[in-house]
Amino acid sequence: MAFARGYAATDASKPLEPFTFERRAPNADDIVIDIKYSGICHSDIHQVRNEWGNAKYPMVPGHEIVGIVSAVGSGVTKFKVGDKAGVGCFVNSCTTCATRDVDLEHYMPGLVQTYNDVEADGTTPTYGGYSDSIVVKEGYALSIPDNLDFAATAPLLCAGITLYSPLMHWKAGPGKKVAIVGMGGLGHMGVKIGAALGAEITVLSQSLSKKEDGLKLGATHYYATSDAETFTSLAGSFDLILCTVSAEIDWNAYLGLLKADGALVLLGVPENPVPVHAFALIPGRRSLAGSMIGSIKETQEMLDFCGKHDIVSDIELIRMDQVNEAYERVLKSDVRYRFVIDAATI
Ligand code: NAP
Ligand code: ZN
Repeated sequence: MAFARGYAATDASKPLEPFTFERRAPNADDIVIDIKYSGICHSDIHQVRNEWGNAKYPMVPGHEIVGIVSAVGSGVTKFKVGDKAGVGCFVNSCTTCATRDVDLEHYMPGLVQTYNDVEADGTTPTYGGYSDSIVVKEGYALSIPDNLDFAATAPLLCAGITLYSPLMHWKAGPGKKVAIVGMGGLGHMGVKIGAALGAEITVLSQSLSKKEDGLKLGATHYYATSDAETFTSLAGSFDLILCTVSAEIDWNAYLGLLKADGALVLLGVPENPVPVHAFALIPGRRSLAGSMIGSIKETQEMLDFCGKHDIVSDIELIRMDQVNEAYERVLKSDVRYRFVIDAATI
């Protein structure tokens, strides 16, 4: 056991505060990572505030983690001390079936989340990246391309893979028209990765205030969803719509923007059930689907893709003690486009 320092939530309604805790002792297949940077995902806010009803306190959030390997177990082959390494949204998965090979491990019941969960031993809580170190099985750690800005790489571990996976699954590429709803942490990664895949990207944002950024990041078109004309002029336009919004929106209107056989994929997590009329789906054989992060294999593929195309997140680097203020700013969509905590300030 070793002590780690971080920030934790102790209750749904209280600000995060300094917290010291024990990390489990590393096993032969573990690496220890000296955390350097940790992104702030909107899911951290949902979980800290118990909006998904499963919060376990004290909770150390953070699942967009990059750092330097400081120790390796005797059986580790993929990493050595001094390597850059990353940890995303999960630190273990089903080991009793063959799904690891087929890229669906993150949809299996044995998934262990990086925080707000319990290690596979059933006793030790998992604590996330708002901290100075983490112990993780090497098979759940990612290699980070050396050419990318280190701090700006952290958000790839959740925001990056969450957009890359559906873009790949629904075959975004040349000739495909893709809309990204919400130009936030997830959305801006969707613009960058989708454009690098060769798809024609349209951003559907509440207003035009971030239009210049969106076009710079790779979008071809940018529309305001507050303008009713957007929904008439774009009717039947898209092969794929990736929705990163967690607020209540008019789902039937968005389904109307799909071409025949198009898919609207939910990535954001609205609080209430999604009301959809059958006639928003039936004419045009449209689909409403969801997608969650990606497997370790696909996450590594995404990082290598981003390394090749020089893609990182646009970030605002903050001190650890600015985290509560950062949460309020995320809620107001007042960040371009991801907060990243500098772990040296813990
Ligand atoms: P974020 O940075 O806050 O971005 C969300 C965007 O939604 C905002 O930038 C804003 O974009 C738009 N938005 C906010 N309020 C809105 C409203 N009232 N009406 C319409 N649009 C609104 O959050 P994020 O980190 O990207 O995460 C987004 C969601 O995805 C969260 O629910 C999170 O839990 C979820 N998530 C899911 C997965 C997964 O695997 N499926 C992974 C990570 C996160 P504009 O200003 O451009 O309108
Ligand atoms: Zn996340």
